[in-house]
Amino acid sequence: MLLIVLLSHMENEYKVLRLVLGDQLNMQHSWYADQDPSILYALMEIRTETDYVWHHIQKACAFFAAMEQFAMHLQDKGHQVTYIKLNDPFNQQSIAANCDGLIQQHHIERFEYQLPDEYRLDETLKAYAKHLAISTQVYDTEHFFSNRDELGLFFANKKGLLMETFYREMRKKHDILLNGKEPAGGKWNFDEQNRHKLPKHHKPYPPLLFDNNVRAQYDRLVQAGVKTIGNINPENFYWPINRVQALELLHYFTELCLPLFGTFQDAMHTDEWSIYHARLSFAMNSKILSPREVVQAAIAAWQAAPDRIAINQLEGFIRQILGWREYMRGIYWLKMPAFEELNYFENSRKLPDWYWTGKTKMNCLKHSIGQSLEHAYAHHVQRLMITGNFALLAGINPDDVDFWYLGIYIDAIQWVEITNTRGMSQFADGGITGSKPYTASANYIHKQSNYCENCHYDRSKRIGDDACPFNSLYWNFHDRHRDKLQQNPRLSMVYRLWVKMNPQDREAILLRANYCLEHLEKL
Ligand SMILES: Cc1cc2nc3c(=O)[nH]c(=O)nc-3n(C[C@H](O)[C@H](O)[C@H](O)COP(=O)(O)OP(=O)(O)OC[C@H]3O[C@@H](n4cnc5c(N)ncnc54)[C@H](O)[C@@H]3O)c2cc1C
Ligand code: SF4
Repeated sequence: MLLIVLLSHMENEYKVLRLVLGDQLNMQHSWYADQDPSILYALMEIRTETDYVWHHIQKACAFFAAMEQFAMHLQDKGHQVTYIKLNDPFNQQSIAANCDGLIQQHHIERFEYQLPDEYRLDETLKAYAKHLAISTQVYDTEHFFSNRDELGLFFANKKGLLMETFYREMRKKHDILLNGKEPAGGKWNFDEQNRHKLPKHHKPYPPLLFDNNVRAQYDRLVQAGVKTIGNINPENFYWPINRVQALELLHYFTELCLPLFGTFQDAMHTDEWSIYHARLSFAMNSKILSPREVVQAAIAAWQAAPDRIAINQLEGFIRQILGWREYMRGIYWLKMPAFEELNYFENSRKLPDWYWTGKTKMNCLKHSIGQSLEHAYAHHVQRLMITGNFALLAGINPDDVDFWYLGIYIDAIQWVEITNTRGMSQFADGGITGSKPYTASANYIHKQSNYCENCHYDRSKRIGDDACPFNSLYWNFHDRHRDKLQQNPRLSMVYRLWVKMNPQDREAILLRANYCLEHLEKL
């Protein structure tokens, strides 16, 4: 059980108020290099943050617990901290009102904060700082490899916004996995070696789980009536909520999972919820861990045991962090706020209710959604090629899709959620984050998983009551978006196959797809 000592009642000792947001738990930040008794650090649990989406209960508890641990740690290091809990009577439930209260109470002379990663909070804090009569100062979070506007500047005079180009630039700029000017291992990208299914009797290492008690945080959320989703055992909460645990998880990953990370990066299995994935996204997105130290730890493990960790495993992992993670953040700041309105295909269908329960006959979706509700986690390919793929094929409104992804995952923060969801998975950005939509039929899902083995539907059929819905929806998607996609050179093969198909077959497939679209809730 955590005990936070509230120092906020001591009068008028502080000159500076420093706001620490829930995803700014970076103990390595230069703010904390020296103790200064005139600085008051403030962390707060507020309704504006708990209520903007339906968060998974594990996500809400993880953030609150990690914030409390961070506040305690700061205090142990000799800093002055006030921690406002959700149910504190003086909690005004918004950043502005709580900061106003603290500034008044302590006769604060300067307000300081770190750049938020979310557009929404950036706007809130800019507006708040503007209205203050005292001076304000903004700091970088000192977390990412690149600055907010770095990607925009890098691509300013170039054609397109290709992730690969930015990733290579990051590798060169930060001297990561290079032999002189050449990429280590002779190639920049080892993706083609990284697409294996789990062999039949292969058992990955179990995920490293911690034994945290988040009962207090859970009770506060429930008593306040915050609407959440998903399951939790508050007495046995297994996500890392402090630096010691996050470092332990990192070590577990580099020692045991990294050697097969790349090989099984795209694999999915009904009995395994994380396979060889790192599960470090919450620790990184809350800034408990820095991407730099994660990358360095992976490289150090490879250097110490190059026979055990092949370059394709390492490069596959580095690409996710130095490539995709930095790239998505850069795109976010380049394209917001317009990005959150994009709807290239003008999709308007409602998200089926079973996205909130997992109660569907489609085994791949049942498992991917079920484990998301159970663990607040699904790995990348489940998010992209199962839940995302289906929503795209079914023409779901990207607002609904975003709302779901932003709530359900432990790591979901808008800068990385929306770029992945609305961009990469829904192609609602019309091709900013990807050169073609990520769509697949049962063929792909069967190739990468065992989901189809016990499914109600037949993966090999395109028509008939028991035909896998992905198969007809796949063709229907390409047929109905012909005007927008046919010219895409990466899709020419798809359209060639479609045109070559016998017209009766095409008609039957479209009929089956229409049935599926009209009965989404029943699939
Ligand atoms: C539709 C969709 C929504 C997503 N929403 C989020 C989200 O809200 N928050 C989030 O952190 N990631 C999101 N991702 C990216 C990715 O799925 C998760 O980062 C990853 O599954 C987290 O699990 P892990 O730590 O085990 O990752 P691993 O597979 O072990 O990868 C290691 C790390 O690489 C980074 N990474 C990998 N892929 C991406 C990516 N595409 N974009 C950014 N970083 C990446 C993450 O920090 C991750 O922790 C989303 C992907 C899709 C397709
Ligand atoms: S048959 Fe179709 S619905 Fe069933 S698991 Fe395979 S891809 Fe999913």
